[in-house]
Amino acid sequence: MSSTFTGETRAFIAGQWVTTSNTFAVTNPFDGAQVARVADCDASHAQTALEASVAAFTWWSKTTAYERSALLKKWHALMLRDEQEIARMIALEMGKPVSEALGEVRYAAGFIEWYAEEAKRVYGETIPSQFAHKRLFAIRQPVGAVYAVTPWNFPAAMVTRKLAPALAAGCTMILKPAEQSPLTALKLAQLWLEAGGHGDVFQVITTNDPIGVSKIMMQDERIRKITFTGSTEVGKILTKQAADTLKRVSMELGGHAPYLIFADADLEQAVKDVIACKFRNAGQTCVCTNRVYVQRDIVAAFTEKLGAAVAALKIGDPLETSTQIGPVVDQAGLEKVIRHVSDAVSKGATIVTGGKVEQGLIFQPTVLGNVSSNMLVLQEETFGPVAPIIAFDTESEAISAANNTPFGLAAYIWTKDISRAVRVAESLEYGIIGLNDAVPSTVQAPFGGVKQSGYGREGGHWGLEEYLFVKYVSLGI
Ligand code: NAD
Repeated sequence: MSSTFTGETRAFIAGQWVTTSNTFAVTNPFDGAQVARVADCDASHAQTALEASVAAFTWWSKTTAYERSALLKKWHALMLRDEQEIARMIALEMGKPVSEALGEVRYAAGFIEWYAEEAKRVYGETIPSQFAHKRLFAIRQPVGAVYAVTPWNFPAAMVTRKLAPALAAGCTMILKPAEQSPLTALKLAQLWLEAGGHGDVFQVITTNDPIGVSKIMMQDERIRKITFTGSTEVGKILTKQAADTLKRVSMELGGHAPYLIFADADLEQAVKDVIACKFRNAGQTCVCTNRVYVQRDIVAAFTEKLGAAVAALKIGDPLETSTQIGPVVDQAGLEKVIRHVSDAVSKGATIVTGGKVEQGLIFQPTVLGNVSSNMLVLQEETFGPVAPIIAFDTESEAISAANNTPFGLAAYIWTKDISRAVRVAESLEYGIIGLNDAVPSTVQAPFGGVKQSGYGREGGHWGLEEYLFVKYVSLGI
């Protein structure tokens, strides 16, 4: 597959494709080659985008749900038309294997389709009144102009998971994509225009200065909502900034997912599931398991099988369709993985397979045995292809180990015992539970965390409610 990039590199502000005097490089993590140079917007661009977004809200919010739905459907069809091109773009800008990136594009497009349908179901309520001379109504209206900040690990899906419900609800949105992966976001804006979307309703501000651009958005009370996906650290900064103007806040933050495998598990399936959960996107998803707890009776057999299966994963160029493990996104990401593995080994962990840098930014898919709670891998999000295995004896021990983290995004359980499945699912302090399911996320279901993994939900009707407020109307008759 060709590694030449020919797509859009200008920012998309107030309906215009904008060039800037400064640009920043987007680099292919596989070979370090420059993919493109992208417009580097500053505070003045941010101000222009903000004014356009606020002005557009006045008319966009008054369009009918049917008009918005029709537009979203066209946009969805165009995204699927160009799915191969977008998948390749994702592989180029952040190193996700292209076959997996195609799955992301379809998942991302699925949000647009789902919210195109759901736009028509923003129902209100009538409330029986205690007064004979009054009629009471609750209606739901869009919150206003929204600022969205997204991470690099899902350049399409993290965007549409916010954008589709926001537009369906009647909000306008300014998107600031991650500096590592702005190209897919710009492609989505191109398709929005082609579908007939208005350039003030959805804008993309590319920048290498997220702090300066965000400051403009966060201090202005006319931006009524901030929706953020990324690290817990940055999420806290934006939440504090949002307090000054009391913006609505949705935070999809970091995770530290445990995978609890009980002795009655289907071992072959559990191995496949842990691989699907841990090694996709080279371990760089917020719901990738970081800690695999295995009941002691089966830990040796499970470790051996997992080690053999992981050693067989195909490492290589993300543009090759057969590649299963590509590079991590950048040097800082690689260094974190190396630090976590060497810390674990220095404290007594064994390397079952992998453990080293393969080439460039590719870290070998790794399984660690004999892992204990004093190791960094069990404390911080590794965001790399490393599966640490920890033995446990009892159900209650596994639950308390799983909950012993400030994070609460996703947790996984493998058991055939339905009573235990329900008990454990109810006891885990997480927003998402995969019960004999390694990839629970889907467009119609709620996605989001508790504790320091954030608040708010994306997906399903919950995702739409994040962009609506309830207005109560009392009518005297
Ligand atoms: P990050 O927090 O470093 O960056 C995310 C975004 O925030 C980027 O667009 C970046 O430019 C911007 N940003 C950085 N500093 C900022 C500041 N001070 N003010 C405003 N914007 C700022 O995260 P990342 O490294 O891109 O992504 C990885 C993290 O995202 C992981 O912790 C992962 O778990 C999390 N994540 C969570 C979910 C979820 O749904 N919960 C999904 C994907 C990723």
